Amino acid sequence: MLANKIALITGSTSGIGLAIAKEFATKGYIVALNSFESEAQVSEVIFEVEAIAKNSVGYFCADLSKTNAGAELVKAVIKKFGQIDILVNNAGVQKVAPIEELKPSDWQAVRQISLDASFDTIRTAIVDMKKRNWGRIINISSVHGLVASKYKSAYIAAKHALIGLTKTVALEVAEKGITVNAICPGYVLTPLVQKQLKDQMKVHNMSEKQVIEQVMLANQPTKQFVKPQEISSMASYLCSDMARSITGTSIVIDGGWTAR
Ligand code: NAD
Repeated sequence: MLANKIALITGSTSGIGLAIAKEFATKGYIVALNSFESEAQVSEVIFEVEAIAKNSVGYFCADLSKTNAGAELVKAVIKKFGQIDILVNNAGVQKVAPIEELKPSDWQAVRQISLDASFDTIRTAIVDMKKRNWGRIINISSVHGLVASKYKSAYIAAKHALIGLTKTVALEVAEKGITVNAICPGYVLTPLVQKQLKDQMKVHNMSEKQVIEQVMLANQPTKQFVKPQEISSMASYLCSDMARSITGTSIVIDGGWTAR
């Protein structure tokens, strides 16, 4: 029943979003990929997904740091594929700095991509989902949507707010066959994490090895990074009919971080 569903995954040319896109593609969903890069820049990634896909794959360039880009993205996907059944708000960026050094433009960019763009995609996609009485919305928050760490004020504020948005929309559409959930990963070794290593080394005055062991994995009792596929498997389960009663939740995949 789910095979021909159409899934839009924002920020799906790398890391967690790419893992979700691949999982959905192998399940037979029609997959709408997105990033801010041009189609030519991500052609290899598109090819990688197409190679394993059982159904169509489309690429939609949209820079979600721009106001209203999320709404335009949803409209473009609906124009090409007719509808959106599954929406994964995954695009995100990180800025690491003490609050007094965090530039207002960085605060704005982090908030816009993680939170405002999710508001835009949800409010645009949900109209159609409500008409069909079926939908799945998955917001990729973070363990930092539930607890804080130093030097990530914009990210942590946005990820907490994304959970609030998740709960509210879940209540609004609970009788419409639409579920809305957040997934909260601990540290997953993706380009996003690799990029912040240098900033973390600077603010903590540590080597790369020390940052990994004493900052990133210090709070993750398993002492291992979570794999992107662990997140994509959960996303896949949330899209199944057996997950129809799971809504308004924050599913934590954090190696035990928040058990303390
Ligand atoms: P990543 O850097 O590997 O991938 C980010 C994706 O978002 C890329 O496809 C990138 O092109 C896209 N993107 C970035 N800016 C964009 C913009 N302006 N417009 C459109 N697309 C844009 O990152 P990741 O680690 O896979 O993170 C994915 C999500 O998971 C993020 O929301 C992140 O906050 C969240 N998360 C990651 C971790 C982790 O440890 N990696 C932990 C918790 C939550």
